[in-house]
Amino acid sequence: MGDPYSLSRKTGVDGDMCGLYCGGILTVDLDALQHNYRVLAKKAAPAQAAAVVKANAYGIGVTKAAPALYEAGARVFFVAQLVEAFTLLAVLPKDITIAVLNDIQPGTEEIVADAGILPVLNSLHSVAAWAKLCSKRGTKLPAMLQLDTGMARLGLDERECEVLIKNPEIFQLADIRYILSHLASADEKQNTQNSAQLEKMQTLLNKLPPCPVALANSGGIFLSGDFRYDLVRPGIALYGVDPHHDTQTEIRPVVQLDARVIETRQVPAETKVGYNATFTTMRPTQITTIAVGYADGWHRTLSNRGAAYFNGARLPIIGRVSMDSITLDTTDLGENAPQRGDLVELIGPHQSLADVARDADTITYEILTSLGQRFDRRYLKAV
Ligand SMILES: *Cc1c(COP(=O)(O)O)cnc(C)c1O
Repeated sequence: MGDPYSLSRKTGVDGDMCGLYCGGILTVDLDALQHNYRVLAKKAAPAQAAAVVKANAYGIGVTKAAPALYEAGARVFFVAQLVEAFTLLAVLPKDITIAVLNDIQPGTEEIVADAGILPVLNSLHSVAAWAKLCSKRGTKLPAMLQLDTGMARLGLDERECEVLIKNPEIFQLADIRYILSHLASADEKQNTQNSAQLEKMQTLLNKLPPCPVALANSGGIFLSGDFRYDLVRPGIALYGVDPHHDTQTEIRPVVQLDARVIETRQVPAETKVGYNATFTTMRPTQITTIAVGYADGWHRTLSNRGAAYFNGARLPIIGRVSMDSITLDTTDLGENAPQRGDLVELIGPHQSLADVARDADTITYEILTSLGQRFDRRYLKAV
């Protein structure tokens, strides 16, 4: 297929006017997404690989990502909210399982059951509510059940697990497809919390009726095989980030972000740059202003930190990140600096999501899910 980004990397008018209407071009490589799903499914086997597509598929666009993942073989999809489950139902074939991680809100039980969506039951309250509906309808409605093995966030806590162990009726009344738990530190391979959670999970499972199990997120898949159980739940790795930042990874980047240059100007030494004058030039400086800002998800913490790239050259961000623009120091490029209409790379071959996250003092998840709505979004896929 050659360079999949050749279209979006072109500068100026490239025959596709749409890109010029937007401050940046977000290119999503659906082939890479499918490749990553297959890599993870192979790694997880014989466990099955689900796909976590919450938060608009981590910001890349769920209506494009979910069908591509289905085509690659995914049949179990996790979202966080009920509204996201309905979005999925509208774009995917019927032979899928959709589970809502954030439990079931009181009053929505009938709607969830009618739609064939699986709630992840996270407390005895929701277990009771689901059991009640199953009894009322006289049918074993499908659901998943989460146990808290060390996050104190969601899932039956220790006391609730004891109650469940003594009163496991839900396993007769409902169709509990999987027992879940979530790892707090799976991105840190050596963290002893991983094995502690695994041990706790196994202890609880031994006291409950036999049921398929799903424990591992992306990081968990690359821990020992013990973590994989029957179903794995990768998110971030699908979207192109190796959970352990392994340089030998088979995981391929999925997103590329290019920003449009608005103008390049010359300023003398001692010039104040941007809001609140947080940067003052030390020398005669060439400044290139690009049309992406914090409203597009380029975090304001990247003020005076981080960079963009042009023809392989690093262009440091100077001054504050504004809502709709960023100023770059392009002095060293001289006449070869990017000019109005050109594109500079914000995420791509020279600067990974992990690089940006590090500079912004956050995680790749937050960079991805912050990416704005007003980019020209281009989805690449070989037919
Ligand atoms: C978000 C989430 C995942 C996916 O985690 P990644 O680290 O992105 O792979 C899996 N399970 C649960 C419960 C989650 O909330």
